[in-house]
Amino acid sequence: MLRRLGHEAVEVRLPQHLDDLDALIMPGGESTTFGKLAVRWGLIDPIRRFAASGKPIWGTCAGLIFLAKDVGHDQPTLGLMDVRVVRNAFGRQIDSFITPIKVKGLDAPFRAVFIRAPIIAEVSPNVEVLAQLEDGTIVAARQGNLLGTSFHPELTNDTRMHELFLSMLAQPAR
Ligand code: GLN
Repeated sequence: MLRRLGHEAVEVRLPQHLDDLDALIMPGGESTTFGKLAVRWGLIDPIRRFAASGKPIWGTCAGLIFLAKDVGHDQPTLGLMDVRVVRNAFGRQIDSFITPIKVKGLDAPFRAVFIRAPIIAEVSPNVEVLAQLEDGTIVAARQGNLLGTSFHPELTNDTRMHELFLSMLAQPAR
């Protein structure tokens, strides 16, 4: 998606891969595995420093869980975003679904893909809610240079969420 938008994208697996990056996306997957591998390969503090430098970080799904301060489980996370997430909040893998959602800053609904997704159950006042399901469930939020989404924008052809994230490169962290 980033390449389609004209940006260079590289994989980050080790701390040194963060050098010279302007922004970081942490994708979906399994957040407990992220935590274990991040601890093993010494990524936690380098990513925290990356965030503290004001560079944009976007966590989708497990990436959002990995960003969150409160995940309700004893698992290693970055603990950067002032949100409480609930993992697997819609049920099991088979309960995954796709639904259009309204996202603040986007002109038309976004087709959101939820795969055994977390929800954002609580946000601090410094966190801006960007998208909610019809029942009010928060599924996207921003805190300064941090963006979190419960769903998987990379699984659609719609580049608008990626553009929204890239626009954070130009905006100073709030
Ligand atoms: N269920 C996963 C977790 O709790 C997240 C799933 C996903 O990233 N699609 O970490």
